[in-house]
Amino acid sequence: MLYDVPMLPPGLEPQLRRLVAAFLEENTKVNLSAFRTEEQCWKGNVLDSLAVLELPIFEATRSAPLPSGEGWGVRVLDLGTGGGFPLLPLAIALPHAQLTGIDSVRKKTDAVARIAASLRLTNVRTLTGRAEALGRDPAYREQFDIVTSRAVASLSVLLEYAAPFVRPQGHIVLWKSVAIEREVQDSLLARAELSAHLVHRHMYDLGEGWGKRQLLVFQKTAPLSEKYPREVGMPSKRPLK
Ligand code: SAH
Repeated sequence: MLYDVPMLPPGLEPQLRRLVAAFLEENTKVNLSAFRTEEQCWKGNVLDSLAVLELPIFEATRSAPLPSGEGWGVRVLDLGTGGGFPLLPLAIALPHAQLTGIDSVRKKTDAVARIAASLRLTNVRTLTGRAEALGRDPAYREQFDIVTSRAVASLSVLLEYAAPFVRPQGHIVLWKSVAIEREVQDSLLARAELSAHLVHRHMYDLGEGWGKRQLLVFQKTAPLSEKYPREVGMPSKRPLK
């Protein structure tokens, strides 16, 4: 089934447009993205990031918190956030969630922190470091409900980066192109070793010139073995296969 890009949540467009302006300004100082025009950034970064709002696992995070507290404080980690995507659009669209963006490149995390401050986003923090190192830190290990990641690595590598951060029963959401059957097959061992079960695939279409993409949703069904993640550099050098 193919979905259109989600309708923007009501009232959010002005702040999302301010995000585009702040991002494009930073992008002239620090090389964050190849998308240099407002229109490219709007579709390719902002709307692409928000495709995730259609997923059932984001339902509880979208609305105002219920009296029971449900939907309040859902912890989301964006791995390899780069210039802040999907991190920053999600922080705007999910004001009741707590967002953390990590990237190994300090000039990028610094730029993202400046953009977040200029938009007065109080639900975002950034951390600088490699996923393989931060994923061993008890302050972050198995501390997140949802890990997101866009355009960072192949599936097997990404699952090893992401699984350490997710609490058991939590989810990993990965942005991918549509032609990834080989990658999915090649991730069989990684999925088994990391207890990451592919539970949902969501196809969507960004419209003219952008084409179809998909979100892959994994649920982590057990605590992670102490073996993972392997040392810095190993997941990409020798992907689990
Ligand atoms: N998610 C952003 C950026 C994608 S570029 C977007 O979609 O626009 C990939 C980013 O992942 C880069 O900024 C790179 O520094 C970061 N990255 C790659 N491997 C990483 C690792 N092991 N730990 C932390 N960050 C990593």
